[in-house]
Amino acid sequence: MMEISDTIAAIATPVGNSGIGIIRISGDGALNIADEIIRSRSGKSLDLFSSQSHRIHYGYVTDGKRIIDEILVSVFRKPRTYTSEDTVEINCHGGMFVLNEVLSLVIAHGARLAREGEFTERAFLNGRIDLTQAEAIMDLISSENEFSRNNSLSQIKGSEKEKISELRDRIIHEAAFIESALDDPEHYDIDDDYKDRLFTIIDNISEEIRSLLNDADRISFLKNGVKTVIIGRPNVGKSSLMNMFAGYEKAIVTSVPGTTRDIVEEKISIEGLILNLTDTAGIHDTADEVESIGIQRAKDSIKEADLILFMIDSSDDLNIEDRYILKEIQDKKSIVILNKTDLSCRTNKDLISDMTDSPVVEVSVKDKTGIQDLKNIIKEMFYKNEIEDGKKIYITNKRHIELLKNVLTSLEETVTSIRSGMTEDTYTIDLMDAYINLGYIIGEEISDDLADRIFSEFCMGK
Ligand code: GDP
Repeated sequence: MMEISDTIAAIATPVGNSGIGIIRISGDGALNIADEIIRSRSGKSLDLFSSQSHRIHYGYVTDGKRIIDEILVSVFRKPRTYTSEDTVEINCHGGMFVLNEVLSLVIAHGARLAREGEFTERAFLNGRIDLTQAEAIMDLISSENEFSRNNSLSQIKGSEKEKISELRDRIIHEAAFIESALDDPEHYDIDDDYKDRLFTIIDNISEEIRSLLNDADRISFLKNGVKTVIIGRPNVGKSSLMNMFAGYEKAIVTSVPGTTRDIVEEKISIEGLILNLTDTAGIHDTADEVESIGIQRAKDSIKEADLILFMIDSSDDLNIEDRYILKEIQDKKSIVILNKTDLSCRTNKDLISDMTDSPVVEVSVKDKTGIQDLKNIIKEMFYKNEIEDGKKIYITNKRHIELLKNVLTSLEETVTSIRSGMTEDTYTIDLMDAYINLGYIIGEEISDDLADRIFSEFCMGK
């Protein structure tokens, strides 16, 4: 691991003007630098070296000739800090000019400009957090809904790390037994009983990993968005709904059926739940060649969708196409939207409800009625079962998911090589591979290059 000797500094708040802006300094020189550039109202040193940890002091940043800003400075003494190093945070007024001046001064007094994520990297390198916790901090910062936030918080507290470490312990225990048996066959025996026990242990671990991967797959939409498709006959109001969600004229709205010839995509947020919304050409038989390509795509997008919004014009009679779609979407997560309820009704909610188990919601996109009901149904469908009791571990990080798949492969290969009669000295090769891959998740056995790459995706000042 790389040696940490220098003191780093960065602006920790977003670029732009704001009420306050924070300069963060971490490392052995942090207190010294802050002490050199900050004075009390009467021009005296604040004597930050003598300050207790987690204390805030009032003062002025000065370059010795002039005052640059009136500030509050927080002192955090190692090791109980974010980085595990002495850390100082200077709360300045939030203009970029002021912040840049203070940062330049901090650097002139011996700090180095921090790279993206370097504060968190130090917390990791100093052993305060593992990689799952570091990555969860970034996820927390970028979380867009309650689920992501709760999940990141649980990972920061160490839930994922604990689970991975526990799996590693079980694997290393068996690898150690096998090695001992090779070294000391008189006392440890890899007999058939042991092999059966090992298969059971590997089976159990693999099952737990598969379950983690299944959950990861099931909830991936909460991080990446719910693939949502709006379908329905031409002219029922699909583009109008999409435009209303998106807030501007993205799809072309006209009263001539069949104008949405291709798929139009939009990302919208319903109280943090991201819908990747696709407006499709209406599903109906058509002789128009361009349009029929769109229709085929619409049929394809039903297959791939996590959620189908099927729109029906309540001022019109149900026709054979509507009945066809109602059947087509039966086994998918779907909502039937009865639009145009501002007009006189020819197809009512009861009629549809008798034909489908999907929830049916009455709206008028024109009058903006029923839209909140629609949103509530969507939220209920996706959030209800997923947030659960907050105790379950959800692995959402792509890197971790790939590594877990590698672990599964290595475990399968361990079983295959034992069953195919390989010599005992090869048993631990794949087992150790599984162990090492689990280690990569929590940041054990990870190279400096990889750590740098992971942390470079973090934001500045974190
Ligand atoms: P699409 O072909 O399904 O995408 O339908 P559009 O969104 O292009 O809408 C077709 C026509 O229906 C347009 O003239 C819309 O203004 C109109 N429309 C959409 N929603 C409503 C509604 O709730 N009430 C009424 N009266 N007209 C609507």
